[in-house]
Amino acid sequence: MSEINFVAEDGFAVEYGHGLFDGLGDQLGSTVVVMQPNPWEFIKGRFGRAPVKIIEARELSPQALDEIAESIPDGVTIVGVGGGSAMDVAKWMHWRSGQRLIQVPTLASVDACFTRMSAIRTDNRVSYQGDAIPEKVIVDYSILQSAPSQFISAGIGDVLSCHTAYADWKMASDLGKSIPWNTRAADASLKYIDVLEEVASEIAAQSEVGIRTLMELYRENGWLSHELGHARFEEGSEHFFAYTFEQVTGRTILHGELVSIGVLIISALTDNNYPRVRSIVQKAGTRHNPVELGITWDEIDRTLRSMKEYSIAEDYWYSYAHVLDIGNVELELARKALDF
Ligand SMILES: [Zn+2]
Repeated sequence: MSEINFVAEDGFAVEYGHGLFDGLGDQLGSTVVVMQPNPWEFIKGRFGRAPVKIIEARELSPQALDEIAESIPDGVTIVGVGGGSAMDVAKWMHWRSGQRLIQVPTLASVDACFTRMSAIRTDNRVSYQGDAIPEKVIVDYSILQSAPSQFISAGIGDVLSCHTAYADWKMASDLGKSIPWNTRAADASLKYIDVLEEVASEIAAQSEVGIRTLMELYRENGWLSHELGHARFEEGSEHFFAYTFEQVTGRTILHGELVSIGVLIISALTDNNYPRVRSIVQKAGTRHNPVELGITWDEIDRTLRSMKEYSIAEDYWYSYAHVLDIGNVELELARKALDF
């Protein structure tokens, strides 16, 4: 296993171990827990001293989030417990109330515990707002190892996205239609894929090294985005595919799985080493067949046909999503790319 040779200068403080969640409430004193019901119900008995307030993380407007933040008392620690939504709402509560923040991810399907802004969805549109650095991210192996496997294997999505994002960025910067090329960040993103490839089967096994490496990749990724002031090395046409899917269907699925499908399709359509990403997805056990994900072919079809127009209308970073013309040949390639 090669070391991740960090490119970013710094990163969020993180603690890895077994049983770190046990008695956390006793250690922290007065807490406000921002949670998603599923993981919280499952593990709350281990938290210790009961929180003074429990906030359920849901899709909320900035105004609604601010109203909740105003009700947070002084002198508490905000503890995010759950997946991306819990991390994002906890970050918002910390940002608005100024109270300390500890994040406890219970799954690894998204990088939200290592990014500073909150992804806020309003009317199926994602925007990034706020700024939060947690005092610590606590990765309790025993929690992540007992999570259903798709919540870990989906986690490759926000790293695998570097594969397509790199090609998008290169193409766009060659045309002078982008944030200028940055060799350090671009090289780093290729390295993340190498590390991911090496650790993919460990991620499938939910082993300590698999979970830890995935989290370290996120940590590095999150801080590099912050240093650069953008995430072009990590976000491109595969994410624009995902956002178009959300717009077209009015719903979403697990972010990492949706992004992974985007990487597979775009790689196949742009002849960008599809076999490699397919092999990583398979080794990591990431679900990608539409049937398995409860997606109809019609939904993919409509997403791909709308992707160009939507990406242009939303003014996303110039990418292959902006130039791909989708006809029957492309749809057939996409179908094969997802083993459908
Ligand atoms: Zn993402």
